[in-house]
This record gives sequence, structure tokens and C-alpha cells, in this order.
Amino acid sequence: MTPQQLYSLIKETTNYNLHSHTEFCDGHAPIAKMADTAAEAGMSVWAATPHSPVCLESQCNMSEKSVPEFLSQCDSARERHAGNMRFLTSMEIDFVSRDFGPHIDYFQRLPLDFRLGSVHFVPTQDGVWLDCDGRFERFAGYLRDGFRGDLRYVVEKYFEQVLTMLELGGIDMLGHFDKIIGNAALADPSIETQKWYEALVDDVVSHAAASGVVVEINTKAILDKGRFFPDRRWWDKLKSAGVPVAINSDAHYPDKVNLGRAEALSLWEES
Ligand SMILES: [Zn+2]
Ligand SMILES: [Zn+2]
Repeated sequence: MTPQQLYSLIKETTNYNLHSHTEFCDGHAPIAKMADTAAEAGMSVWAATPHSPVCLESQCNMSEKSVPEFLSQCDSARERHAGNMRFLTSMEIDFVSRDFGPHIDYFQRLPLDFRLGSVHFVPTQDGVWLDCDGRFERFAGYLRDGFRGDLRYVVEKYFEQVLTMLELGGIDMLGHFDKIIGNAALADPSIETQKWYEALVDDVVSHAAASGVVVEINTKAILDKGRFFPDRRWWDKLKSAGVPVAINSDAHYPDKVNLGRAEALSLWEES
């Protein structure tokens, strides 16, 4: 479906979540369990979005050989919930480079209802892709040893990846577009107040608006990191640009299907 069709499924309801993980990647429950829990929580639209197969070594991503089984389990979940919840089959597709991302034929040909594009891997100055998501301790090691201690380089490179993904297209929803700040701000809390950083955010918002994709507000880290992605300070930019927004829990556990969504929804209404 197009981004407009995807947005039309959620714009009249708050009972949706378009980003979730299962045992096919680094989630902690089967698809059936996540879907059943979501339905019990009153969701009317739910999407399974495993971390896609990726061209790099990664424990968090699903393997290409498990894709047929994933699609088949999604079909079962869709049928089982046909009367109560719209189940969508998707993937959180990693953008790595111009040679590998949501835009390539492999992902465009998969029978997915929509494509969620996210950046987790950032290439170092030496061309080694490192997963900059996850625990700060690991990120701090990568920053020191992989990125030569150059925090601004990592942050700029992350945003460059996001912008290139938008430019190449093939996505319907943009995942957590400033996720790098979760770790970067722990290394240097002043980053977000700097002009060059705000300019990166402005660039993403304007390119997202021009491309017409749905932009996610990701609530997964609200307890651990006390922030949403994108951070709340930028929500007025999303509103002014008129981009369609989806508020997603990025749940990896059944008891977190709705985590942070009510708070984000009410803040979004106020902002
Ligand atoms: Zn992600
Ligand atoms: Zn995710």
C-alpha cells in the first residue's frame, strides 16, 4: 500500500501500532503471541516488522532463509484476527548503502503490506558498518575505537544515511529518524542544542515531507532513556511540515505492546 493508504488506516484511531518485533529477529515472543496480546489490548491495526535480512553480520536481524516461514505465520495471524484486528505484514528494513536498503529489488518484491525503513548501522571513516543502536556501553566502545572518538562524524553520518534512504525511496514509513541521539546525547548532552544538529533534523523533516512518507514517533525507550524518537523538542517541526505521523511502541515483548503510546499520543495532541 502507499504511505497515504497506510496513514488512512490509523488516522481515525489511536488503537494501532505499526512497529513490533518477534522471535524472528530480536523480539521475545512468537508472532501469534504478540498479535493475540495486541488484540486483547484493543488494537485495531497491528504490524509485524522484524529487522530485515541484512548484508552485514548481525544477531538482531532475521535471516533470509526464515522469510518464507515469517510470511506464512503472518498469513495465519491475519486470518485469525480477520474479525477484530487488521494485521499487517511488514519489515523494519535496514538502510546500509546505495547497494543495500529498502529500495533494492529484493525488498520491493517481497509481499509486504508496507515497508518501514530505519538506520541502525553507521559506516566508520574506514568503511566498517557498526550498529549504533542498543546499549550505550557498546556505542561508547565503537565511538572510541571505530569512529576515532569523533562524535559529530557519527551523528552526521547517521543522518546522511537517513537522507540517502529517503532519497532512494521504497519506504512507506520512516523509523525513529533521530535514534542516534539516544546514545550520542549520553556522550555529549549539549549536541541537541547545537545549530548544526538542528539543521540535520530540519533536513530530514523537509525531505520526509517532500517524499510523502509516514514519519514514526517511536516510544520504545521512554522508560530507559526518557525520550521519544524523534525527540519531543522537534515535534513542532513535524506539525508545521504537515507530515503524517504514526506513534509506535516498537515492542519486543508482549507486555510492551502499548508502552509509551498513550503518553506520546496526548503530548502530540497538546503540541
Ligand atoms: Zn529500529
Ligand atoms: Zn524496531
